[in-house]
Amino acid sequence: MSKVWDVVIVGAGTAGLPCAIFAAKRGAKVIVIEAADKIGGSLWYASGQISGTKTKLQAKRGIDDNPDKHFADIVRINHGTGDHPFMRIFAENAGATVDWLYDIGWRPQDEHPAITYGHEIYTTPRTYWAKDGAISIVNALAPLFDAEVKKGNITLRLSTRMSEVITDDRGAAAGVRVIAGEKSDDIHGRNVVLTCGGYAASAELWGKFHNRPLRGYFWPHAQGDGVKAAMALGAEFKWADNFIPTFAGTSDPDTGDKKWINTICTPQLRQPWEIYVNMNGARFMAEDNSSVDMRERALMQQPDMAFWSIYDEAIREKAPPLLFAWPKDKQDRAFASHPDYRMGASLDELAAATGLSAAALKHTIERYNLGQAVKSDAFGRQFMPLPVSKGPFYAVKHYAISVVSFGGVNTDMKCRVLRANGQAIPNLYAAGEMVGFGRFGNAYVSGTSIGPAITFGRLLGEQILTWNTNQAQAAE
Ligand SMILES: Cc1cc2nc3c(=O)[nH]c(=O)nc-3n(C[C@H](O)[C@H](O)[C@H](O)COP(=O)(O)OP(=O)(O)OC[C@H]3O[C@@H](n4cnc5c(N)ncnc54)[C@H](O)[C@@H]3O)c2cc1C
Repeated sequence: MSKVWDVVIVGAGTAGLPCAIFAAKRGAKVIVIEAADKIGGSLWYASGQISGTKTKLQAKRGIDDNPDKHFADIVRINHGTGDHPFMRIFAENAGATVDWLYDIGWRPQDEHPAITYGHEIYTTPRTYWAKDGAISIVNALAPLFDAEVKKGNITLRLSTRMSEVITDDRGAAAGVRVIAGEKSDDIHGRNVVLTCGGYAASAELWGKFHNRPLRGYFWPHAQGDGVKAAMALGAEFKWADNFIPTFAGTSDPDTGDKKWINTICTPQLRQPWEIYVNMNGARFMAEDNSSVDMRERALMQQPDMAFWSIYDEAIREKAPPLLFAWPKDKQDRAFASHPDYRMGASLDELAAATGLSAAALKHTIERYNLGQAVKSDAFGRQFMPLPVSKGPFYAVKHYAISVVSFGGVNTDMKCRVLRANGQAIPNLYAAGEMVGFGRFGNAYVSGTSIGPAITFGRLLGEQILTWNTNQAQAAE
């Protein structure tokens, strides 16, 4: 039989890199299988917010915070949902993760930790975000990873895709089958760690688990291979029901549906000058409501989880840019050719261009303008600088978009993959988005995807040889 590795890690991303680094430092011989031609995974795409308490950076700024407050805030934001023991372990270890990243050279923005507004806000400044986004985390982790590769403790196989977990005659994980180019081979190991991300990029699994089309922006290798491989061995699939979308995104006219962008719909960053109109031609919320969670829940109730953001020429001229200050030629290109960017000289023309009922659209705009004139809006909106009154009129279609997959395989607190009957599949572990973003509940909580991926990857790497009772003696 070919070499038997101490630890086979599938996925050199957010969870896989720290897992490999810590396992290798502890003396394990590790092989890392990566489908892409480079390490880093979703960190190449993510914005990179992480959270944690009692950190050196909080201490420096005199911020009074602790894991209990972090945990309480997570539970407040997610309305008491999700896996509380898992969240508690995260809250207790998240600060050490931030400090570790800091110690190895990662730096957030100068004023961080801060309150940030992309998700429902924490009560205390405990979000850390680097200027150059999540790629800064790869830049901090890569030298440590490379050092272990150089020492011969980690072997990295890029452009190699795991297709299944292989088992021994007891049903214990014993390695993985991989495909590289045309070639398939088996890699054997005493411990198999699935850190190969979620299914955010898989139209097939979005359809299967959520009955929804794929709309979002994600690492292309997030195809759910790990979830499928673990489920093939009987792993329990959980948390998909906690799905909630982000508010909201539109497709980039230059890349079509391949890249979805978040326009600036966060009132704390840009007050809305437009009105939001659903596919029935009706408004459905106060566009300036400052709660991200409320906005996301309102959007979930709308037909096709979509709306048109509608404005007129005066708003186009006076409002700060909705479309990230796109140059005029890009805006012209979008409105000339892309079905999600429409304009019309009159409201009848705009209705025809968007497919909205002209009667409903005119009624909605008339009602909004009446309220705007006397500063009393039917939905309680406060910020209403201008009516929507003079053509040409513009409409940009926004959708509920997703950057993470909510469902994942169940594990115990030692990251062992569990069957529905609660029994662990021997020698099989999972961390990162593999275990479902929805494990953190029915909400987006700031920094609870990258943070837990690094934290559980780190804990697993530090302890896998002892957590696996078969390995306990070997590790002594
Ligand atoms: C646009 C965007 C913004 C985000 N912003 C934030 C944020 O600010 N804060 C936050 O907490 N989270 C954020 N997230 C989510 C977060 O980035 C991910 O949930 C997290 O990075 C996932 O970590 P992971 O280790 O599970 O997966 P990854 O980091 O994606 O790593 C998985 C690795 O496995 C590889 N792989 C996949 N399949 C196979 C296979 N079959 N064989 C071998 N290798 C395989 C992949 O190529 C990848 O390298 C964001 C995500 C996106 C897309």
